[in-house]
Amino acid sequence: MSKNSFYNSTLGVAMARADVGPIIVEKDQPGQPHKGKVFAAVHAHLDDIPLYAGGHCAKLIREGYTGYLIRTTNDEKRGGHSTAANILSNEQEHLKAAAALGFKDTFDLYYQNHEMDGISSLDLRGRLIFLFRMWKVDTVVTFNPWGHGEENPDHWATGRAVEEACWMSGIENDFHEQLEAGLAPHDVLERYYFYGRPGQLYNRVVDITAHIEKKIDSIVECRSQGGGNFGSELRARLVQQGKRLPLLGNDDRTADREYARQFLLDSNREYGKPHKLAFAERFYYIDQRRPRRSSVDEYVAKNAVAL
Ligand SMILES: [Zn+2]
Repeated sequence: MSKNSFYNSTLGVAMARADVGPIIVEKDQPGQPHKGKVFAAVHAHLDDIPLYAGGHCAKLIREGYTGYLIRTTNDEKRGGHSTAANILSNEQEHLKAAAALGFKDTFDLYYQNHEMDGISSLDLRGRLIFLFRMWKVDTVVTFNPWGHGEENPDHWATGRAVEEACWMSGIENDFHEQLEAGLAPHDVLERYYFYGRPGQLYNRVVDITAHIEKKIDSIVECRSQGGGNFGSELRARLVQQGKRLPLLGNDDRTADREYARQFLLDSNREYGKPHKLAFAERFYYIDQRRPRRSSVDEYVAKNAVAL
């Protein structure tokens, strides 16, 4: 058994384990190697996926994955307007940010913003299991559920529920009424957790250089939060002072995109630098796909004798 695997006595198989081992750089793959596979990106707020994982999601979709985007909160606290107006603007921008990255569909669960530590994690887990079974999700992209330094309860509550849902969606006695309704148990076996705060573990550096325009496209749709309109706001402030920045161009769209490129991607440049990449995102990747032939299968093949 390699040092990167451990023995699961329940399943009787050696399973890949990703919390050890070297950092692997994931580069663009030619063609559509993931065709037929499905991933769910699960975030809490409008700007989480665009900022933490927008490039990676665009890359997975370009390489053949079908992507679904789930937002767990209603984002009512962010946007600078009344609660109701914030909910509406974030919801509308969420659709646009998802479309910019190529997601097939979005789903909003509307838990109250900043209050997810008070909700029933069991309720959230059941809703995620329903979606994972319905879409037959192979892979999730979400928050690190046990990540160092995470101060936002919506982030860790979401990450924990996703992690729990990934394996319980494969167990037929969990939420068995869903099976009566026609859904089948379905394991989610690959997980990418964002590198969300300094000090969190990561073992994947994803080269997002070829997807940076799509990441910027999604960031500039995040106007209620995430800085998507900072460029046009700065441009307007400078006009009032009789000034202009050549960087920001001559229209609001260009101003927002170039502001994002110049000021909102510093961490992506920093993550790429050690690997000679222009832009990168970091993840903690866990692969629980089982080997086709387990050690039990091997032993039986070698040692079983006729009765
Ligand atoms: Zn967030």
